[in-house]
Amino acid sequence: MARKARFDILFEPVRIGPKTAPNRFFQVPHASGMTNANPHVRAAFRGMKAEGGWGVVSTGACSVHPTSDDSPFPFASLWDEADVRAHAVMTEAVHAHGALAAVELWHGGAAAVNRTTRHAPLSPSGVPWMATHVGFMSSARPRVMDRGDIRDLIRWHAEAAVRAEQAGFDILYVYAGMGYLPYQFLLADYNRRTDAYGGSPGNRVRLVAELIDAVREATHGRCAVALRISLQELRSRPSDSAPSEAHEVIALLKDAPDLFDVKMDYSATDCAPSRFASEGSHEPVVDFVRKLTDRPVVGVGRFTSPDTMVSMVRRGVLDLIGGARPSIADPFLPRKIDEGREDEIRECIGCNICISSWHDGVWVRCTQNPTAGEEWRRGWHPETVRRDGAGSVLVVGGGPAGLEAALTLGRRGFRVTLAEARREFGGRLLWESRLPGLRQWFRVVDYRLGQLRRMANVSLHAESPMGPEEVRDFGADHVVVATGARWTANLCGANEIPTVPLVAPRVYTPDDIAAGVAIAGPVAVFDFDNYYMGSAISEHLAAQGLQTTYVTSAGSAQAWGVMTNEQPQVHQAFRRAGIGCRTLQVVEGFDGESLALSHVFSGERQEIAARSLVIVGQREGGSPLYDALRDGGAPVVLTGDANAPGAVAHAVWQAHRAARELAAAPSAISVRRDAPFAMRDLGPGREAAE
Ligand code: ADP
Ligand code: SF4
Repeated sequence: MARKARFDILFEPVRIGPKTAPNRFFQVPHASGMTNANPHVRAAFRGMKAEGGWGVVSTGACSVHPTSDDSPFPFASLWDEADVRAHAVMTEAVHAHGALAAVELWHGGAAAVNRTTRHAPLSPSGVPWMATHVGFMSSARPRVMDRGDIRDLIRWHAEAAVRAEQAGFDILYVYAGMGYLPYQFLLADYNRRTDAYGGSPGNRVRLVAELIDAVREATHGRCAVALRISLQELRSRPSDSAPSEAHEVIALLKDAPDLFDVKMDYSATDCAPSRFASEGSHEPVVDFVRKLTDRPVVGVGRFTSPDTMVSMVRRGVLDLIGGARPSIADPFLPRKIDEGREDEIRECIGCNICISSWHDGVWVRCTQNPTAGEEWRRGWHPETVRRDGAGSVLVVGGGPAGLEAALTLGRRGFRVTLAEARREFGGRLLWESRLPGLRQWFRVVDYRLGQLRRMANVSLHAESPMGPEEVRDFGADHVVVATGARWTANLCGANEIPTVPLVAPRVYTPDDIAAGVAIAGPVAVFDFDNYYMGSAISEHLAAQGLQTTYVTSAGSAQAWGVMTNEQPQVHQAFRRAGIGCRTLQVVEGFDGESLALSHVFSGERQEIAARSLVIVGQREGGSPLYDALRDGGAPVVLTGDANAPGAVAHAVWQAHRAARELAAAPSAISVRRDAPFAMRDLGPGREAAE
C-alpha cells in the first residue's frame, strides 16, 4: 500500500548540524534496562527500531565518568575502550538500516549517588536531590564543585565524546534534564553559586554552553551536538525580561546546540501514564522553544497518531517526532505509516510497565509488544515469526492471552480457532478498560482483533463456552487454554500474608463489581494487591456518588504505582473525588455495618462505618478445563492469567512464548546469554581503571 500524501511531511529529511536525519521519526534517549553488560541485547533492541523506520535511534543515559553512577539502576557508560566496543555493536545495528545513532552523554550529579563507585556525589552548591522516587532516596549528600571540578566535568564530557565518535555515534547529547548535574546548574534552587557559574540566568547557562562547545570541539565538528533540557520547573519560574526563566535560558542557548530535545523534569510527568495524561501532554510546557531558535526541536508526547504528529510539525511545535514508549510498543510505527498501514500500528497503551522494568533494574518489558527485550536473547521479531505451523489449534479464552496466542499461532501458519464464552472478545479488559482513565488499555484487544480478522487461517467464535467434552469433540491437534483468573475474597494479616476468604454480608471482589452488582454506600475498598485495581475501583465507586474509603496495608495508595509513575496522580485523583485514604491498615473484621481496622505496625484498632466492602487482594488462576484435558492425556498448554495471574504484560508475554514454542523443534527454541566486553579482552595486561 502507498503512503497517504498527508503524511509525506513526516518522511522529509531534517538537517541536524553536520548530519541529516532521513525522516522526522526520532527515538529519543530512553531507559531500556540494558547496559554495557548486555551489548548484543541492547544492539538488537535498538537496531530493531532502525529496521522499523526510526530515522534516529538513541541510547539511554550513558555515564561520562565513574562519578556518575546510578546503581542499582541500570545505566550505560563510556569510560574506556571496552565501553566503546560495547556501543559499537549498537551503532552498527542502527547504521545497517540507514538511521543515525545518538548517545546521551550523562552526568547525574547529586541525583546519582554513586552507590557502587562510592565517589562523593557532585553538585553546584551542595543541595541534595531529595526525591523519594524509587531508588533515588539515599543517605548520601553531595559535595560542592570547585572550579577544578567544573574543568574536570567538561574534560570528562570531551573525552567521552571522543569515545562516542569512535563507537560510531552521529549525534552526541549534552543532558541538562531530570535533576542531573547540568540541569542543577540551570535551576537557581540547586545553583546558589556566587562565581561565574551561578546567579543570573546568563551565568547559570554557562556550564551547559561550555559542555556543548567541548563536545563539539572534541569531535572537530564532525558529530552533531544535541541539548536535552527539562523545562517544567524553569517555565514556572518568573523572569523580569521574558515570559519565564525557561524562555530566557532557551534564548541564551538558541545558537549553541545543533538540536534541542525538550522535555519535562520528573519521571511522573515526563513519562506520564495514559490514565492521567493524554497524547501530547508536554506541549503546554515545551511549545515556545521552536519560536526562539532556528535549530530543529524534538520532543515526545506518547505520539501514536500520525495526524497528531503532522499537526505538531505544521503548527511549528516540533521538527522531529520524538518517540520512547511508542517506539517500544511498535518499533515498526514509521514503516507502517510509510506503507499506508497506519491502522496496523500497535499503539502504546500508556500503562508504563516499560518504565517499571527500569525501576526493577531489568530489560524493558512491554504490555503491547511481548518481543521487546527478547530480540537477541530469544530471537523474537515484533512483526514476523517462523512460518512452520502445521495442523490445527483450538485456543480457549479470548482475553489478552488468548488473543495473543491466536495471533502468533496464526502467523506461524496453524489453522486456529479461538473460542470465547462471552459475546465479546477482550477478557478482563472488557470491563477494566471502562474504569476511570483506562480506556486506552483496550488497544491491547483492538490491535490483536484487528490483525486476527484479516487472517484467513483464523476463525473467531464468541459465545462459545468450552468444556472438556466440547474440546475433545472439536478434535484440534493442539489446545491452548487461556481462561483467566478470578479475584478471591481472601484477607491478609499484618504481615501481608493472604489468609482466608471473609464471609460477611455485602463483601465483594472486583469480579462482582465487573458483573454489575449494586453496591450500598458507604463503601470501603481494601487493597493489598497494590496495583491499579484497588485505586481504579475506588474512583469508579466514588463516580457513582458512593461515599468511598480506600484502605491499604501499604504506606501509600497503589503502592506498586510508584513503579509505573502513577502514585502521585492516584493520590491527587482521590483528593479530587473525595475518596478517603487510610494507609498501613488491615481489615480485622466486617459485619455489614462497620469495618474494624488495625494498624500494621502498632496494632492500634479503629472502626469506620461501611455497608459494603470490596476486597482487592489476591487472584487465583488454574483451570478445571485444563486439568480435565491434561488428565485425559490431551496435548494442552495452560497460559496467561490462568497459568499465573499477573499484569496484562505478563499474560501477553506468556501467551506469546507458548505460541512460539508450541510443537516447535527443540532447535528452534534457543535462549542466548549475553556477556560484556572487558578491557582485558583488548590485549595482554590491559585492565579497566575503575
Ligand atoms: P488473560 O489475561 O489470561 O487473557 P482474561 O481473564 O482476560 O485472561 O481472559 C480469559 C477469557 O477466557 C475470558 O474472556 C473468559 O470469558 C474466557 N473463558 C473462560 N473460561 C472459558 C471457557 N471454558 N470457554 C471459553 N472461554 C472461556
Ligand atoms: Fe506503552 Fe505500556 Fe508498552 Fe510502555 S509497556 S511502551 S506504556 S504499552
